[in-house]
Amino acid sequence: MSKPVVAIVGRPNVGKSTLFNALAGGMISIVKDTPGVTRDRIYADVSWLDREFTLVDTGGIEPESKDIILSQMREQAQIAIDTADVILFLTDVRQGLVDADSKVADMLRRSAKPVLLVVNKVDSFEKYMPDVYEFYNLGIGEPLPVSSASRLGLGDMLDEVIKYFPKGEESEEEDERPRVAIIGKPNVGKSSIINKLLGEQRVIVSDIAGTTRDAIDTDIVYNGKEYVFIDTAGLRRKSKIKEELERYSIIRAVSAVERADVVLMVIDAVEGVTEQDAKIAGIAHERGKGIIIVVNKWDAIEKNDKTMREYENEVRRVLSFMPYAEIMYVSAHTGQRLIKLYDMIDMVIANQTMRVATGVLNEIMTEAVAMQQPPSDKGKRLKLYYITQVSVKPPTFVIFVNDKELMHFSYTRYLENKIREAFGFCGTSLKFFIRERK
Ligand code: GDP
Ligand code: GDP
Repeated sequence: MSKPVVAIVGRPNVGKSTLFNALAGGMISIVKDTPGVTRDRIYADVSWLDREFTLVDTGGIEPESKDIILSQMREQAQIAIDTADVILFLTDVRQGLVDADSKVADMLRRSAKPVLLVVNKVDSFEKYMPDVYEFYNLGIGEPLPVSSASRLGLGDMLDEVIKYFPKGEESEEEDERPRVAIIGKPNVGKSSIINKLLGEQRVIVSDIAGTTRDAIDTDIVYNGKEYVFIDTAGLRRKSKIKEELERYSIIRAVSAVERADVVLMVIDAVEGVTEQDAKIAGIAHERGKGIIIVVNKWDAIEKNDKTMREYENEVRRVLSFMPYAEIMYVSAHTGQRLIKLYDMIDMVIANQTMRVATGVLNEIMTEAVAMQQPPSDKGKRLKLYYITQVSVKPPTFVIFVNDKELMHFSYTRYLENKIREAFGFCGTSLKFFIRERK
């Protein structure tokens, strides 16, 4: 299910990262072997009441000079407008209203995105409330006082945030068309791939605006079937600062991945696979989306009979956390193998939504246990009672055991491999929950 995206925007030092940490603290789902997820916290999963959303912090590095603060804030605001369902505009009661706040408020107001004006550092309502009223002058509604440092007012703020989320029945879930996000570093060929695919279809249906976003999704018909390509390449504004550019491309990827069924992770064959690719791919992995690794610009490298093998080894090494993803070697320039992407997309979606009968799963588990004894600790041995699939997208299994502590990651991995041997599940991660039953 696709989760709404909430973005925090605000001047340096108003407390964006403090708010981010306060909301994400303890709720961040950390996939230990995914690169980048723990290191820089650009995005996190947050849940409030029965709603879940992805929180992103648009603020990156400290600007070196005062005059670039405004331009940087504008870029952050634009990213938020492009990618978020709800924007938290954070201000600071201690510094009061400053000119840059008003300028950014103007920009946000024009965007038609829901914006919540949050006034931070209200550590004492008694003392600071009179100063909060000044923020009405921004003209973006009622200021919500919070203290991120002492976690005051956050619940009321979250109540407001979730009011703007689409209700279940209004969401894009109804849409049966496969939704495909093309992600990857700048210049790997994302737009070229979309353009080539567009060029090869007979009928161009229409460019439809995303129902919840300003981003333009591209509808492509292949073999009489419609696919929606979610554009992340759209951003042509280039930040001069490398760290900012990377941050923004991650935020864009997060938002596109969130809305997609299948993700095409594009890598530049000429440049080779890099750590930055791993970070971006990690987003799709962690979100449990279907993934196809697309090595583009295959026309531009010198090849011999070993090239593909060597490439595969390198991709598998750097993206070792997603061995289940298929790799395709394509060229947006010549069109080589691009058409095959559609079959692959269909297959990955089928795997994402595949359900395995409980009886069959338990047979596999029993056989697996017989072949390799479960781990034990201090004389107590792990017993596996029962396995069942509880959901899809990604396929998710619950295993009932005698003692959770005894269920090592490596044994879960072993069972996962057995399930994959039987059913493939190519292109999708599998999730396992371990429950105790005495
Ligand atoms: P960012 O640059 O917007 O990400 O701001 P930070 O989160 O780094 O916070 C800037 C400074 O404000 C830090 O020294 C924080 O400790 C402080 N700060 C953040 N939130 C609060 C708050 O609610 N109350 C007070 N008194 N200080 C805060
Ligand atoms: P994006 O930033 O990921 O959308 O990348 P673009 O689609 O703008 O492509 C970046 C550059 O790579 C452009 O100069 C393209 O012409 C080039 N490019 C894209 N695909 C291919 C390809 O398959 N082969 C070669 N040789 N160049 C490509």
